[in-house]
Amino acid sequence: MAIVCAAFFAFPGIVSTQELRPQTLMLAADDLNSSSSHVSTPTADDISPGSNSSHLSTPADASIAQTDAAKSLIPDAIYYTVQEKHSFAVQAAHWGVPSKILLALNPTFSMNSVLQAGDKLCVFRANAQSKEPLSIGRASRGRLQHAVPMPEGEGYFLRSYRPRSWATRNTIEALITAFSAYAQKYPEGPRVNLGDLSKRRGGKVTPHSSHQSGRDVDFGLIVTDAPDPKHPEHFQYANAQNLDAEKSWFLIHALIKTGEVQKIYLDAKLQKLLYVEAAKTLNDEELKAIFPLPRHKDSASAIFQHWKGHKNHFHVRFKCPAKQWRCKS
Ligand SMILES: [Zn+2]
Repeated sequence: MAIVCAAFFAFPGIVSTQELRPQTLMLAADDLNSSSSHVSTPTADDISPGSNSSHLSTPADASIAQTDAAKSLIPDAIYYTVQEKHSFAVQAAHWGVPSKILLALNPTFSMNSVLQAGDKLCVFRANAQSKEPLSIGRASRGRLQHAVPMPEGEGYFLRSYRPRSWATRNTIEALITAFSAYAQKYPEGPRVNLGDLSKRRGGKVTPHSSHQSGRDVDFGLIVTDAPDPKHPEHFQYANAQNLDAEKSWFLIHALIKTGEVQKIYLDAKLQKLLYVEAAKTLNDEELKAIFPLPRHKDSASAIFQHWKGHKNHFHVRFKCPAKQWRCKS
């Protein structure tokens, strides 16, 4: 199966007006050439974004407007792998991409295509017309525009049903950075179960009260138990006996070190187990900035906060992207 990821605006006629923003209508001369010139065969790197560290240092070409593309960690093209046989439309729904847009990105397929396990389709492509992802409103009442999907990569796995795998640029880049560090440190370690992010255009994500504006991410805790073979995508409950505190703390610390984490919600009993691990290397001041326990005068402003029910995963709220005044933290 040929794998292509078409320049998105090679097919403006089948892109919904909702997706065509005024700025994107300013097609470059290249975009007006025959469509075949827009079909590019991705390199091996493109096909498995995040699968090796070269992704993390490869500067994007001048493909991302309004950002410093040279610093971007997000691949120009992001491909998802079909997990099981599905019709084109069902697969599009499972990835949260409108069928017409998925088709525009993958013109060698048709609406009648039946996708087979292992097929790789482009779900996102940055180009000169791309606009910066925007987080609008609050995490509990907000939306998202021009979102970026979390790539497949090492150290973690995305669920097969992933319409909630979209977020802001700073959120996705923080995840890529932290998982890259985790995969490098623990190449044989368990892959982290990555839960919900946001929908492509944000808004209500049942049953969550937040996850609406591209800044919330649920992570499975790393435990020493084997995953449930019948339900490998279910989060596993953690306790003092099974929590792999060293690996869990390593990943959480890697996230915090990106500077993009606003809060982390986790049951207080599990926080204590991570505190023991963190105290091996951090000083008192650093610990107080991260942990509210044992209680201290700045507990309310610590990064970790207790949230009932968070015993089988931790929930990270990322900061508003810089200079986005409509984003409410
Ligand atoms: Zn959550």
